[in-house]
Amino acid sequence: MSDSRVIIVGASGRMGRMLVRAITESANANVVGATERPGSEFVGRDAGELAGVETLGVRLVDDVHACPEADVLIDFTAPVATLNHAIFVAERGMAMVIGTTGCDDEQMQQLRNTLCDSPVVMAANYSVGVNLALSLIERAAQVLGNDYDAEIFEAHHKHKVDAPSGTALAMGKSLAAGRGVELDAVSVLSRQGMTGARKAGDIGFSVVRGGNIVGEHKAMFIADEERIEINHIASDRMVFARGAVRAAGWLSDQSGGWYDMQDVLGLN
Ligand code: NAD
Repeated sequence: MSDSRVIIVGASGRMGRMLVRAITESANANVVGATERPGSEFVGRDAGELAGVETLGVRLVDDVHACPEADVLIDFTAPVATLNHAIFVAERGMAMVIGTTGCDDEQMQQLRNTLCDSPVVMAANYSVGVNLALSLIERAAQVLGNDYDAEIFEAHHKHKVDAPSGTALAMGKSLAAGRGVELDAVSVLSRQGMTGARKAGDIGFSVVRGGNIVGEHKAMFIADEERIEINHIASDRMVFARGAVRAAGWLSDQSGGWYDMQDVLGLN
């Protein structure tokens, strides 16, 4: 990326601060704008100072329209905010990297409609390791088929508001794709009471929330005699931030289109 100008929205959030840090570590990108929601105590503060790096001379504003010209906007906020940022991105003709999870089907459709001409990367998880795991899971599901019961486990910190995580669902989709089925037709998102015996072909999900767990995901293929597990543990959010900044750089060479991290890493 040749000196990409980047806007970070939600710049005082857990990911927002990491993104500012990741960009200051990157040789080819600069933070030119940073925002927070109206009413946030961090509006007016310097984005670099909030991120624990040097002063950048970029103060957080509460309206993205007040940000200067930029090449790409990176958004790890919340679904409704992301929809509004998408309108801004389309108006300005810039690229967008979306990390927000928890968008429902209608919100996803609105995002796709709004950003139909823009270069966009949207990924449930920007870690390189997780994206490699998604490829491995699809391959394992192809080979093992329905003879192995498939279960997906995820654990996150106590502040996370959506479940199962976007990454757990992405793992489910990879697993279903490997088996040649649609996830919605076979997913079991919760179990309680008299559930009956497990159906062959089901893909079950289980969820833990607590403490400051950054993100753990595991796909299990369980037979009577053996169990195969593909496990990923993130111990620092910087892994997502670095991946998102890599995606932003990759987008500068792309024309309009909707991409995921598998495209960025050449795994598709
Ligand atoms: P967070 O709550 O710490 O940060 C979100 C920030 O967005 C907050 O500071 C909030 O005030 C701000 N915000 C909300 N509305 C806004 C608006 N209209 N304008 C500007 N800022 C606004 O949450 P977080 O842990 O940083 O996670 C944010 C999102 O990113 C979540 O959806 C989370 O699931 C997702 N996430 C994705 C990945 C990935 O790799 N895709 C990794 C980590 C987190």
